[in-house]
Amino acid sequence: MTKTTPVRKFQVYGKPHIDKLPQLQKLSEEQRLAMKTVAEVLPFRANNYVVEELIDWDNIPDDPMFQLTFPQQGMLKEEDFETMRGMMLRGADAKEMKPEIKRIQYGLNPHPAGQKSLNVPHENGEPVPGMQHKYRETVLFFPMAGQTCHAYCTYCFRWPQFVGLDDMKFASKEASGLVEYLKAHKEVTSVLITGGDPMIMRTSLLRQYVEPLLGPGLEHVTSIRFGTKAPAYWPYRFTHGEDSDDLMRLLGEIRAAGKEAAIMAHFSVKRELETDVAQYAIKRLISAGATVRTQAPLIRHVNDNADNWAQMWRLQVKLGAIPYYMFIERDTGARGYFEVPLWRAYMIFTEAFRQVTGLARTVRGPSMSCTPGKVLIDGITEVNGEKLFVLKMLQARDPAWVNQVFFAKYDQRAGWMDQLKPAFGEKEFFYAEGMRDMRKTGEGRVWLPTEVDALEETWRMESVEPDHHKKD
Ligand SMILES: *Cc1c(COP(=O)(O)O)cnc(C)c1O
Repeated sequence: MTKTTPVRKFQVYGKPHIDKLPQLQKLSEEQRLAMKTVAEVLPFRANNYVVEELIDWDNIPDDPMFQLTFPQQGMLKEEDFETMRGMMLRGADAKEMKPEIKRIQYGLNPHPAGQKSLNVPHENGEPVPGMQHKYRETVLFFPMAGQTCHAYCTYCFRWPQFVGLDDMKFASKEASGLVEYLKAHKEVTSVLITGGDPMIMRTSLLRQYVEPLLGPGLEHVTSIRFGTKAPAYWPYRFTHGEDSDDLMRLLGEIRAAGKEAAIMAHFSVKRELETDVAQYAIKRLISAGATVRTQAPLIRHVNDNADNWAQMWRLQVKLGAIPYYMFIERDTGARGYFEVPLWRAYMIFTEAFRQVTGLARTVRGPSMSCTPGKVLIDGITEVNGEKLFVLKMLQARDPAWVNQVFFAKYDQRAGWMDQLKPAFGEKEFFYAEGMRDMRKTGEGRVWLPTEVDALEETWRMESVEPDHHKKD
């Protein structure tokens, strides 16, 4: 692929297109009604690139890209699905359907992991709009205009904002609040601009958020990351048009300011990396000076097989991208449909990990983004006859918890942290008391600048001189 390849014109598909898309006409009326029924409750958005290049229409409904982007009957509980379908069949009006839709949506745990209450920092008693600060080194920033995507993933944990359950007031119109916050918080070394998908914005708009981060007083911010699925869902964002050239310049400016420009690219399925235009997008990003790191959640019906991950990671490394995280899907939305039990997630990760060289073993997972932090399932083992999950905190609200190993009773059915019980007769996990304190104060972060030094001091005092250093 080169610049002379004609660019596709972006066409977005939503609910009304379920009856119109020619590719869907081979489905039965019944199947299309099921899709429309689910699309009343959960967000649906696809586009012409996804439909024409990524989905294998000879393999529906099983095709992973179809499962990733199109609504499926199993995503709603049977009784909820029947209620909605009944209304659709008798042509119920919006006024009648709305309360039912809301009831079902609120039953899908729309706000997991304390996103609202604990993650938003306060400055002078006021919440800082458009920001989350959960882990000491990294601030998340949500620009107002970046709160949608080129297509929606059916399992997306941000689904509530796409169906109007959340307003966009949490997002920010400008970077000034962010800059002020960062100037006052020298512990922050990384800003992660996320959404939605910030790459949905024109570069000129994106620039308004990025440029202020390159100025004086923010030397401690050494990386700017962009969380995006555009390389998978709309790679033309990076390859064609004046706007893509401008983006490459912006990435170059971040590099010139001495900071890392990191594209945190969401790739779920190998197919997303196989098109010429996707590979060209990665190439251009890297040529512009950005690093491309890849991540995705593990989703039943989409990517719950080890070979897909091994092939993805290998191809990513070949293209110059760096495998970063494999996540467990969050405890929200159509979770019953997508859930992979923790034991199986660990097996899939391990089987894939075994197939790749160390160059791809930069990936960590499977990892759960829980209220206290990111929890890695690091092993399944047995100690004194008790079968256990070995867990490790990769990221935490309290930096003192990071890299701590802990144990949970093995549970074949568990799919999320809240279903795990501490092993060895412990009453609660090691972070429980700290979490209670944070909930009491409403302050979801507890670090002090001196903490690292204090910890190192403890180690020094505890360390014992090795024998061969002793003089006799
Ligand atoms: C994952 C995550 C980050 C970034 O963590 P890294 O391990 O540095 O990639 C920051 N904030 C939140 C809320 C996260 O979930």
